[in-house]
Amino acid sequence: MSHVIHRSLAQVPLVAVGGKGVELFDQAGKAYLDASGGAAVSCLGHAHPDVLAAMHRQLDQLAYAHTSFFTTEVQEALADHLVTHAPAGMTDVYFVSGGSEAVEAALKMARQYFVEIGQPERTHFVARRQSYHGNTLGALAVGGNEWRRKQFAPILMDVGRVAPAYEYRDRLDGESQPAYVARLLAEIDTKFQELGPDKVIAFVAEPVVGATLGAVAAPAGYWQGLRALCDRYGILLIADEVMCGMGRTGSLHAVEQEGISPDLMTIAKGLGGGYQPIGAVLAQRKMVEAMRRGSGMFQHGHTYIGHAMAAAAALAVQQVIQRDQLLPQVLARGAYLQKQLHARFDAHPHVGDIRGRGLFWGVELVQDRSSKATFDPAFKLHAKVKAQAMAHGLLCYPMGGTIDGLHGDHVLLAPPFISSEAELDQVVERLGDAIDTVLAQQPVA
Ligand code: PMP
Repeated sequence: MSHVIHRSLAQVPLVAVGGKGVELFDQAGKAYLDASGGAAVSCLGHAHPDVLAAMHRQLDQLAYAHTSFFTTEVQEALADHLVTHAPAGMTDVYFVSGGSEAVEAALKMARQYFVEIGQPERTHFVARRQSYHGNTLGALAVGGNEWRRKQFAPILMDVGRVAPAYEYRDRLDGESQPAYVARLLAEIDTKFQELGPDKVIAFVAEPVVGATLGAVAAPAGYWQGLRALCDRYGILLIADEVMCGMGRTGSLHAVEQEGISPDLMTIAKGLGGGYQPIGAVLAQRKMVEAMRRGSGMFQHGHTYIGHAMAAAAALAVQQVIQRDQLLPQVLARGAYLQKQLHARFDAHPHVGDIRGRGLFWGVELVQDRSSKATFDPAFKLHAKVKAQAMAHGLLCYPMGGTIDGLHGDHVLLAPPFISSEAELDQVVERLGDAIDTVLAQQPVA
């Protein structure tokens, strides 16, 4: 009997006892190809020797010092590294212990910024449906995953909600891509007008939507339009790159591919690659300057911010990515994975869409390709695919559930940057076998 409150209280999960490279091992000795890096975390795979060595060195020197007394060399070095490679104008970093904490800190920093510059009447956030920004109360409030929010909705702050940029389902028949983008931006503008543009703090969105949609990037021009719209009203733009950032899409930050800089950007997962819990907020200088001139501090903080072991692990992960030129490798292997996914699934009667960037891919499963009808939620296709994939020795990240009344199932793939072509072949083969096994067991007509 387990005393841990597990994610599912229905059953105790398998016990993981080891990991090496792209594989994880359970107690029975079974190996799993980790094609989702957990939840897009393990970018360097498991037990990377250079990361382990850096962590051992840091542990021998200093594991932890509270940030109200000290900074550490390793925290400063990590911040220098991140700022050197940050989008234009992002000059300052605030370290936390994960994605939700990063989002909370970004929301609070955005609010404090306006208090400091004399616009305390700005109190609203605007965000999208079918988005995920974390499970703490502020992050859950801006997130648009109705399934996760449902029980807590009465205690969450009110957030302005607009459409996701989800071309596969939401671009109308005959609507051009620019017209679709214009429609999305017009809806955001209307929402700003409704709330009062001078009452809005920030717009929050994932550049490539992970958990709730499965690697969906916005159509070309959306982010540039969004940046311009926010600038028109002095509204801040917060890019949540907790899942899609840190090289996952082939550039260090996903927004680089959109040609814009947000005011605040959250990162986590691939920052520490799972070797330690760590997240961060990257900020434009004006944010920090306003707080310096005003309160003289960021009115926030947690016990473990800037943790030395976490910073050492993250710095080592980022140095390996740079030294081994893994970003171009993500692009090359990503193009290979894309080709293999299309070869395996283009003619599959229940694969409606294959989308992604770099080594971040989503495969959307549908009952019917032409109508895009989804499977009956009661069938719980995503959960069955996850279990069957594990039986086939594959870890992938299938998700589904009723989101704003629309049920959909998709599988998210986020393999380690070090995956070989042969390993990616295995990912596609095992995923195809798992999906086919599940569908063969069910009358899909
Ligand atoms: N934002 C995004 C975009 C995420 O994908 C996630 C995690 N899936 C979070 C925030 C929350 O991160 P964490 O689980 O580390 O709190």
